[in-house]
Amino acid sequence: MDDFKPYAGELEFHDVLYSKDDGVATVTLNRPKSFNCYSTRTLKELILAFQDASWDDTISVIVFTGQGTKAFCTGGDVKEYDEVYTKKPREYWKYMGLFRGYLESIMHAGKPVIARLNGMAVGGGNESQLACDLTVMAEHTWLGQVGTSVGSVACGGATQWLPLVVGDKRAREMLFMNPKISSRKALDWGLVNAVEPSVTKEGDFIENPSSDQVKKAQKGLDGYAIDLSKVDARIAEYVANLKNKFPECLRYTKTNTNTLKDLVWNITVPHAQDWLSTHFGGVEPYEGMRAFVEKRPSDFEKIRKSEFLWGPAEKECGCGAKGLPSEFEHCGKCGKAL
Ligand SMILES: [Zn+2]
Repeated sequence: MDDFKPYAGELEFHDVLYSKDDGVATVTLNRPKSFNCYSTRTLKELILAFQDASWDDTISVIVFTGQGTKAFCTGGDVKEYDEVYTKKPREYWKYMGLFRGYLESIMHAGKPVIARLNGMAVGGGNESQLACDLTVMAEHTWLGQVGTSVGSVACGGATQWLPLVVGDKRAREMLFMNPKISSRKALDWGLVNAVEPSVTKEGDFIENPSSDQVKKAQKGLDGYAIDLSKVDARIAEYVANLKNKFPECLRYTKTNTNTLKDLVWNITVPHAQDWLSTHFGGVEPYEGMRAFVEKRPSDFEKIRKSEFLWGPAEKECGCGAKGLPSEFEHCGKCGKAL
């Protein structure tokens, strides 16, 4: 069957590194300078990579990770959101369809997908790891959601799956208040399967590093460094285990275990896609993305006072222009004072 032949060698990846070795396909988000956020192009590449790994019968397990030691994935590309999607909410509907396709390519890969959290998993990055079957997390990293802080809603996996994974109250804590969840807490809450030491001093692993030690390790100062070898050893253990299982049984075990995950996803995500695209042209994402790009805090009070940037579109001008924002003092078309 040539239709499902692996793509190997024909794929042109730019934002993603994709490799296959000894029955394991590794998908690596390769935008470390942008903290491994995904753009529209990245999502297309990820779908192709997971589809290829899914169709290649020689592949037993898929490992999904990010390049570097700072970020696994930090969700959507906020610059792209700001430059493209806040101006074209209809395009965001298409983009959201692509994001659905990406998460579903993980959920429906037909084989186990292990998230290797080499760095932080934030927003859509945490949703990505939630879509995976198993997660191994480096101790220096953290995860969390950001939707309500940045003018969006984390309904691309987080609102759906967090209640299943961590329970209702903890899900609300993460979704409403957006705290950083440390690796220890992530393990305690069942957000990940394992946490492995990842900070070394003079080559020796230290447990429970302080945030100061993590910072030094990220910069390679004072003998501190990040070392992901224990994370990789744990993943190798998982892989060895999973390779010694019957592939069809594993596939249907995954499919069946997906039941609640699929259910809550399928009954919410089509209208989440619609709501997000409609909302994306509004004032909340505008303010959230502008604040992010301008590196300043969002003005939540201003939004609370008015749903519009310059008041509702209700002014008219003698020149024929209608629907001018009520706070405008001059006509935006002819320039006359209103
Ligand atoms: Zn006018």
